[in-house]
Amino acid sequence: MDCIFCKIIAGEIPCFKVYEDEKTLAFLDVAPCADGHTMVIPKKHADAFVEMTPEESGALFEAVNKVSNQIMNKMESITGLTIGMNTYPSAGQTVMHTHVHIFPRYEGDGGGTTHSIVDSAKSADPEYLKKICELLTE
Ligand code: AMP
Ligand code: ZN
Repeated sequence: MDCIFCKIIAGEIPCFKVYEDEKTLAFLDVAPCADGHTMVIPKKHADAFVEMTPEESGALFEAVNKVSNQIMNKMESITGLTIGMNTYPSAGQTVMHTHVHIFPRYEGDGGGTTHSIVDSAKSADPEYLKKICELLTE
């Protein structure tokens, strides 16, 4: 398969590896948005997060937790993290191998919050929220 992250896992393309276990690999982003910007990926290819099983995604997020702590404990002056995934191209996914971005945050770095990704406020009418809730749980 012509997948750049599968090639990294196979050792065909180099990376700056920061963590590895049986199911997961983490490495520095080649075009970092912050010092220590790290990608955490499953070793088994899945185009997108929602195509993984709950067990596979659980293993991925165990690694995200470990790497997040590693980054928080080691990066100088770090004050927080933003953790996120672009899922499918309409959400900005460019590499079609599931990955979690860990963006270290620093005081005054000028970055936004997850809310700034989708910035148009929608209806908070309780009746409307109830309809969505029913749709999601029926
Ligand atoms: P996304 O837009 O969420 O699909 O993010 C893909 C990320 O992969 C981008 O932040 C790229 O900088 C990063 N990336 C692409 N190729 C490599 C590579 N060879 N090594 C490390 N990171 C990469
Ligand atoms: Zn892949």
